[in-house]
Amino acid sequence: MILIKTMDYKTICPYCGYKSTNHETLEGKNKPKNGEISFCMNCGEVSKFTKKELVKVNIEELKYCTREEINDIRVAWLRRKAIENLK
Ligand SMILES: [Zn+2]
Repeated sequence: MILIKTMDYKTICPYCGYKSTNHETLEGKNKPKNGEISFCMNCGEVSKFTKKELVKVNIEELKYCTREEINDIRVAWLRRKAIENLK
């Protein structure tokens, strides 16, 4: 997983409406490409990049290795959220 900072590339999470300019994709290119997966750091949901926007994705339709990676990211995200809740 690579953090991609693209100031001119804004997306809106299709689940929670969170606006983001920093993107983490599983494929880690300079700019997210059509079909790459996105994990929302605000709500923990998974979406897919299209040329124009993020769209909801059914995790069950993804490859097993991708689902495993998403699960690892989600576990780390939940841990961070849990720690923040104790502050
Ligand atoms: Zn979200």
